Amino acid sequence: MRVFNFSAGPSTLPLKVLERVQAKLINYENSGMSVMEMSHRSKEYEAINTEAEVLLRELMNIPKNYEVAFIQGGASLQFEALPLNLSKNGKSDYVVTGIWAEKAHKEAKKFSDAKEIASSKDKGFNYIPKITKDMIRPDADYLHICQNNTIVGTRFNYIPEAGNVPIVNDLSSCILSEEMDVSKYGVLYAGAQKNIGPAGMTLVIVRNDLLDSAHANCPTILKWKTHTEAKSLYHTPPSFPTYVAMEVFRYLKELGGIKVMQKINEDKANMLYDFIDNSKMFSNNVAKEDRSIMNIPFVSPSEELNEKFLKEATKAGLTTLKGHKLVGGMRASIYNAMPVEGVKALVDFMKKFEKENK
Ligand SMILES: *Cc1c(COP(=O)(O)O)cnc(C)c1O
Repeated sequence: MRVFNFSAGPSTLPLKVLERVQAKLINYENSGMSVMEMSHRSKEYEAINTEAEVLLRELMNIPKNYEVAFIQGGASLQFEALPLNLSKNGKSDYVVTGIWAEKAHKEAKKFSDAKEIASSKDKGFNYIPKITKDMIRPDADYLHICQNNTIVGTRFNYIPEAGNVPIVNDLSSCILSEEMDVSKYGVLYAGAQKNIGPAGMTLVIVRNDLLDSAHANCPTILKWKTHTEAKSLYHTPPSFPTYVAMEVFRYLKELGGIKVMQKINEDKANMLYDFIDNSKMFSNNVAKEDRSIMNIPFVSPSEELNEKFLKEATKAGLTTLKGHKLVGGMRASIYNAMPVEGVKALVDFMKKFEKENK
């Protein structure tokens, strides 16, 4: 029996996608082999690689002057790739809104004069600071933000005004969850394992005028231009995860695109927040206007109750609800692929638990 899996990542995938992948797993479109076994130079794989990019461009409405690459290394490798790719002046500005943003800043400091221009650490990262143009150094190579903060459950509800400084946005835990204006950013990146597909593929979207600002010593494999020029086929790409991502993109298109997905995501998040806000047992301490619609942390009044909740939830088929060790309590990650029924089941379970443990 499949469970409702609230894992923060790798996370649940649409059942329809898994079934389609299963149906073609050992013989992909009469090639006589699995995509896993296929040369990335074959015509079958090239078709997958191309379709994945075409569909992603369509779904996100990516302008023509942006390049797309499907590469390896996770979002974490991009923390290091960033200051090496955008290194005209050797200066970068960071907004530290969570553990991942903090890590990104820490890596950038090794290669760049990376300044923390704002942080919400003073309140355990439970809000998003307001960034104004005067906080950003006009000669910074980029401004780095993290759109959705996976561990603490916050999200930017505005796009900072950065003038000519390109904004780099870590979209790992919210890509394709809501409509966005790609043209407002210089670079977008995301690990696939939360909202796109299986772990192993990392997506990078770069405005093409930024492809020539790499440091002379930037390793070839970290250089975005290496991958965009080769259409993601410079070396062995994460072929199977990219293939599953293509199936996810097809699925999202059939659903009606990101606008439809966003509405479903907002409905799911509202359902859970409404319950938490009216509950006498559970609470969420994130500033209301900055709440994530993907990752929703919550706590009960005691450690004992948290533990009991997690144990009984797992038994009821609601799994991986344990909060990140830095935050404690519970966290429901309700990415695109979490069905509405999963959130309903969670809310029903929380209601029942609250009644039984008054
Ligand atoms: C998960 C996550 C990362 C790290 O991704 P990896 O692919 O494991 O390196 C970075 N940023 C955010 C916002 C994340 O949620």
